[in-house]
Amino acid sequence: MPTEVPSELPVGDPEVRKAQTFQTKTSEQVDLVDRLNKFSCWSRAVKAVARLIRRARKVKSCDLSSVSERQSAEQLIIKDMQSQTYGEEIKLLSKGHQLPKQNKLYHLDVFLDAEGVLKVGGRLSRSSFPNTFKHPTVIPQGHHVTSLIIAHHHERVKHQGKGFTINEIRSNGYWICGLSRAVATYIRHCVTCRRLRRPVESQKMSDLPVERTEPTPPFTYCGMDCFGPFWTKQGRKEEKRWRQVQYLTEQFWSRWKKEYLHSITARQCWHGTKRNLQVGDVVMDAEDTLPRSKWRLGTVTEVIQGKDGLVRRAKILFGEKELNHKGERTIRTSLERPVQKLVLLLEAV
Ligand SMILES: [Zn+2]
Repeated sequence: MPTEVPSELPVGDPEVRKAQTFQTKTSEQVDLVDRLNKFSCWSRAVKAVARLIRRARKVKSCDLSSVSERQSAEQLIIKDMQSQTYGEEIKLLSKGHQLPKQNKLYHLDVFLDAEGVLKVGGRLSRSSFPNTFKHPTVIPQGHHVTSLIIAHHHERVKHQGKGFTINEIRSNGYWICGLSRAVATYIRHCVTCRRLRRPVESQKMSDLPVERTEPTPPFTYCGMDCFGPFWTKQGRKEEKRWRQVQYLTEQFWSRWKKEYLHSITARQCWHGTKRNLQVGDVVMDAEDTLPRSKWRLGTVTEVIQGKDGLVRRAKILFGEKELNHKGERTIRTSLERPVQKLVLLLEAV
């Protein structure tokens, strides 16, 4: 028979011992800049931090953030990012030490300004330029915030090239390590720039098809016959003519091989293997009769591979501009296009 076990242990029972338990709470500290990973726009990130600062100061206001609030938010983000990347350097400098020669920031002659922001020393301190120009703020490379800053200034110069974007960033007082390469990479992936300037796709030239390299009778592959139909009849005259035709045909093929085939054997263009188009890629259809701004957008739905596994044609689903009364794009057309008529805007994830 099972006996009932009381749920409450009796107090004073010699079998019951008192034990102490510890509840441990681990809280991972997340840096402010890591919280900005979800932002894709620098000014929106700055405004969000400005609102946080306002809340921390217990200021109850629904007004838009002021310029000075945004400036201190920006400074807070940058200081946080610098301490995350250059923690050791900041520690040394705040103690009044010099950076060792092998340090990657040594050649920049960096120093901490009155607000504790890491800045470039440089050789312009005696010049009359503004301080932001003489001593730009050090921004590490490869950080999410760094790409937000690059994107912001690239948009400010209306998607102009690398040089304009770099000048805009520098004149606003930022010293981004590896700036030139970072800007080039950013622009290469910028969808707006791709729409404006990216050339059409290409792929390594395929091998020549058999019909272009082997001698075959007329009309086998095309409807044109260079020699025309020749009728042979009995008689010496007709036979002579037939031999002449045979000779001419042989001559043609031997000269074709010797003189022409070599010139098309070498791949004249598109030497290297490029990334194959993939299902899900967003492309623009390069239509010669329309201006670039009118080219249709489409999605790759199927790729057609050659014998070498390279994609030179693809099926594209285009959405027409007309929307139905619900605002949905209902008319869609599917077309097969060669890659040389497509501009890749966005790679499939
Ligand atoms: Zn752009």
